[in-house]
Amino acid sequence: MKLYFLIALFITITLSLTGCTRSETKGETAMSENQLSSDSLDNQEVINRTDEEWQKILTPEQFYVLRKKGTERPYTGKYDQHFEEGIYFCAGCGTELFKSETKFDAGCGWPSFYQPSSESTIKYEEDTSLMMRRTEVLCSKCGGHLGHVFNDGPNPTGLRYCINSVSLNFVKKEGQKIK
Ligand SMILES: [Zn+2]
Repeated sequence: MKLYFLIALFITITLSLTGCTRSETKGETAMSENQLSSDSLDNQEVINRTDEEWQKILTPEQFYVLRKKGTERPYTGKYDQHFEEGIYFCAGCGTELFKSETKFDAGCGWPSFYQPSSESTIKYEEDTSLMMRRTEVLCSKCGGHLGHVFNDGPNPTGLRYCINSVSLNFVKKEGQKIK
């Protein structure tokens, strides 16, 4: 009788341990599947063009800013004081980047947003040029330089995406409805 009890106990422990291991494995599998799908998505969506190819598509100013990480002169960009309702797309590849609802006048001379339309369409890189430590903002699809992001923005994010007008193409809300 005692032996039977011990065997039953042993089986119970073994089963519960196996259960644990199984659920852990499940979690790991789910994570690696997620990573895989996002990786493959990124690979699918990335646009790789040579400088020569970009030069054929972009204006000289767009090429200088988007592909050579240039900066337009402050207060000169067409979207600096532009507050119509609509969506701002990447001038290099047409990906949606910012919505007009998140645009604000930072007074810095460049279009400023407190949040991108989606984190997946933006990528960040550390930029230590010009003796400064800044975070560069790029289009994740075409790798085009958009501008920089700073920590002195308004609520709700406290961020200021300082973006070159040249890197953007604006489409009015009404225009989109007609399409
Ligand atoms: Zn792009």
